[in-house]
Amino acid sequence: MALKVFNTLSRAKEDFEPLIPGKVRMYVCGVTVYDYCHIGHARAYVAFDVVQRFLRWRGFDVTYVRNFTDVDDKIIRRANEVGVGVTELTDRFIAAFHEDMEALGVATADVEPRVTGHIPQIIATIQRILDRGHAYVLGGDVYFDIQSFPAYLGLSGRKLDDMQAGASDRVGEKATRHPMFFALWKAAKEGEPYWDSPWGRGRPGWHIECSTMSALYLGEVFDIHGGGMDLVFPHHENERAQSWAASGREFVRYWLHNGFVQVDKEKMSKSLGNFFTIRQVVERFHPESLRYFLLTTHYRSPINFNDAAIGEAENRVEYLYDGIAAARAVLEKAPAEPDAAELAAIRDRFASAMDDDFNTAAAIAGLAEDARGLNEAVAMKGKDPRKSVRVATLARAILDQGAVMGLCQRDPAATVAEIQARKLARSGLDRAVIDALVGERTAARAARDFAAADGVRAKLLAMGVQVMDTPEGTRWKLA
Ligand SMILES: [Zn+2]
Repeated sequence: MALKVFNTLSRAKEDFEPLIPGKVRMYVCGVTVYDYCHIGHARAYVAFDVVQRFLRWRGFDVTYVRNFTDVDDKIIRRANEVGVGVTELTDRFIAAFHEDMEALGVATADVEPRVTGHIPQIIATIQRILDRGHAYVLGGDVYFDIQSFPAYLGLSGRKLDDMQAGASDRVGEKATRHPMFFALWKAAKEGEPYWDSPWGRGRPGWHIECSTMSALYLGEVFDIHGGGMDLVFPHHENERAQSWAASGREFVRYWLHNGFVQVDKEKMSKSLGNFFTIRQVVERFHPESLRYFLLTTHYRSPINFNDAAIGEAENRVEYLYDGIAAARAVLEKAPAEPDAAELAAIRDRFASAMDDDFNTAAAIAGLAEDARGLNEAVAMKGKDPRKSVRVATLARAILDQGAVMGLCQRDPAATVAEIQARKLARSGLDRAVIDALVGERTAARAARDFAAADGVRAKLLAMGVQVMDTPEGTRWKLA
């Protein structure tokens, strides 16, 4: 079966055929580094992390580029507010981005270029666009001539006439050639960082960096360009126009866009008070539960975030790690090799889910089925040799599929402990109080007062605490 991907440009699912057989060159727009990342960023970078992992698993030689926008109006404004230099601010938030991504199990990209490290190349691209007659200089600014690109708005499907009507108030004081315009180069204002250019001191507009850095690292035409749906217009539309103007070629073969994250079915926004950074979420819920939650929905569909949904995802993650830990215990006592035929069948099921436009929702459903099967196998009584083989097969299958989705790769005991610590913090219960009640129950059992022991167990259960008697002693966990 062939991999199919939904292409925003054609609005259809297409067979995926990279320009060079066996190689995939992929670019995803990175963050503007002036603040901590929110869960919308988490969605985009987790989604494209899975895309690149799956392509590698499929045997492609992948080059993945994800940039950092480290000069921009918002950055300059924030640096002035905070009273630090632009570079100090951007370094800080690039480090924070890497910490957040590491928590979510998102791999670093093969190349992570920063705009400020590529100004000469950006100036060269702008010069090329000017030389080819697709831009004009106006008072130290350089503007793209959108009327020179007949396919403008072909990606977003917007209509230029509608946009003109709505854009007349955006012209500003400068007499641009068209009511719709965007800048390739902006003349420096007082107190802003600037670079020298043939058009005077200034800095690049936002869009030109991606046209320049994608061509530099991936070539004039490459395979996949990704980002959030909010980037289709204007950012990707403008990248496409610029790259075409610079090279005369359609620069991207497949445009992939992930859907929005909503919070309780509303648009996430700071003004509505439903805005969450990754840090805020992973302090309360285990980071892998955020990743798992994001992958339970197909990347193109909107996803609805709330405590109940991520709490459920956290339970699923805990269940998976409990299963892996239990499988290890079984296999330590009775080692066995996985059943090759069954493993191959699970691999096929996983591949066909993911081949369908990276359908992680279907792949996760398969993983959940395997986890259920694993726990049933672990619970099988006796020393039936089939038990160990089944446990070995399903445990391996879970780890293999998990590796492609970035799940189930952590230490099981440590992860369950981290989840339990977060559940305890969220519950508001006191560990010492729980320990004391569990001790009370143990004492009652030792005194053979089973009625009292059962009473304490019921009390704990009402608090959400499960008590388990194991060969290593009595343990408890939050459900
Ligand atoms: Zn971009």
